[in-house]
Amino acid sequence: MSELIFSPTASFNFGQQVETEQDIIIIGGGPAGLTAALYTARAAARPLVLIGDVVGGQAATTHEIENYPGFPEGVGGAALAAQMQSHAERFGAQIQFDLATKVDFQTYPFKIETSSQQYTAKAVIVSTGSAPRKLGVPGEDAFRARGVSYCATCDGYFFKDKNVIVVGGGNSAIDESLFLTRLVNKITVVHRRDQLRADPVLQERALANPKIEFVWDSVVEEILGDQEANAVRVRNVKTGEQSTLPTDGVFIYVGHVPNTQVFVGQLELDRGGYVVTDRRQHTSVRGVFAAGDVQDAIFRQVVTAAGTGSAAAIEAIRFLDEQEHK
Ligand code: NAP
Repeated sequence: MSELIFSPTASFNFGQQVETEQDIIIIGGGPAGLTAALYTARAAARPLVLIGDVVGGQAATTHEIENYPGFPEGVGGAALAAQMQSHAERFGAQIQFDLATKVDFQTYPFKIETSSQQYTAKAVIVSTGSAPRKLGVPGEDAFRARGVSYCATCDGYFFKDKNVIVVGGGNSAIDESLFLTRLVNKITVVHRRDQLRADPVLQERALANPKIEFVWDSVVEEILGDQEANAVRVRNVKTGEQSTLPTDGVFIYVGHVPNTQVFVGQLELDRGGYVVTDRRQHTSVRGVFAAGDVQDAIFRQVVTAAGTGSAAAIEAIRFLDEQEHK
């Protein structure tokens, strides 16, 4: 199973020579980073965007985005990401598929190390997004990519005509369950409460879909299997009763954690690990800005990520202008 979606238009700049002294480096290439790239590129700043391995971040792993303005029929997450990438590139953004492994924001210009290069930047926009939260139960790691997945859009096809379990009750769990109904035979959603957190419109669709069943008030305590996952052990949180549900696959959607490990000790983070920003997307370090899910535990929408990406870009350009006129 693969959990990666590569943009069809992605330019793979591995090994390609890129100036090591940059004006603006954007770390992360989801909707926030790509929007920041577009705005800074249109200000003729020629930003360098460091992207791990997936253009579009979490949004690219979403099968259908129905609430991004301007797409009344919905748009595929990967397709939207590819459009955002080519939009930013059209104005001169440089996309580099390289992970930032270390940063030094205590010196100026700022230093950023990747697995293959060391850069300096006069301004930085952090937009590293978030990653799926793990359940943290036995069997989860052992059966990852062997029946356990965090991305139905990527891996759903491997479970064609099979029975799967989806864990969680938020928008992601329900959205992806609805996507899976196209492929699999039956979906059992295991949720820890008796009410879904997902938006009413998604709830209605899921509750009306004959392929989706619900196991309420229940938590997964273990993922069982042999070569591949083949069952989950669940416990009803109200009665304490335990049961084993056979399955061909387990899709886990229990929220997200911000990708901020590399910024520990460099930027102020809140208790949840999110980058602390002010209303203008400034972080605790002057000249370093943050946008998107890495600094947003509340809204986490593609449109809000794009919005904060544009705001961070405008502020970064202002900061560079100030530096120049000092
Ligand atoms: P979320 O909204 O935080 O939902 C996480 C779900 O997992 C909740 O139902 C939660 O249960 C459950 N959960 C958390 N920890 C658990 C655990 N240890 N064991 C079992 N269940 C657990 O996360 P999300 O669904 O990933 O969505 C993240 C954000 O992206 C949200 O703001 C969402 O609106 C947005 N999003 C939007 C769309 C859309 O608009 N179409 C699609 C995808 C995501 P409780 O409900 O009991 O807390």
